[in-house]
Amino acid sequence: MSAPAAKTPVFHCRQCGECCQGKGGILPSPIERELIAQYLKMPVAELIRIYLEETPLGLAVKNKAAGGCIFQEDNRCRIHPVKPRICRDWPFLPAILLHENEFAAAKTACAGLAPESRHTDFLTFWLTEVI
Ligand code: SF4
Ligand code: SF4
Repeated sequence: MSAPAAKTPVFHCRQCGECCQGKGGILPSPIERELIAQYLKMPVAELIRIYLEETPLGLAVKNKAAGGCIFQEDNRCRIHPVKPRICRDWPFLPAILLHENEFAAAKTACAGLAPESRHTDFLTFWLTEVI
């Protein structure tokens, strides 16, 4: 008898870098700004001057002229160990956890989410494997 096929995990990051190609909206908190500045070995004021910009919602990470987050390099995050919480949490964001339609949209944006997975599978995965 052959072994049962391994079940595709609900989420497994493919390192495609697509989630860093957004139009902004990464707003590091003051503590996150401190950590990023320490990691890059520069004063916070320098971090703000080079990498952040004022938005109506507060200081946000800039995008590169060609698009995508300024910290993205060869599909990798230059500040991975200290990246802002929203980056660490993706795709387990509140809206996606709460709403089935947001989960459906996330599946089209993130190659790491198994296309056949249901919202309930996503919640179970989050509860058992993530938190
Ligand atoms: S879009 Fe999804 S699969 Fe691609 S890097 Fe981001 S989390 Fe990973
Ligand atoms: S900070 Fe890093 S993980 Fe977050 S969007 Fe930029 S490159 Fe991606």
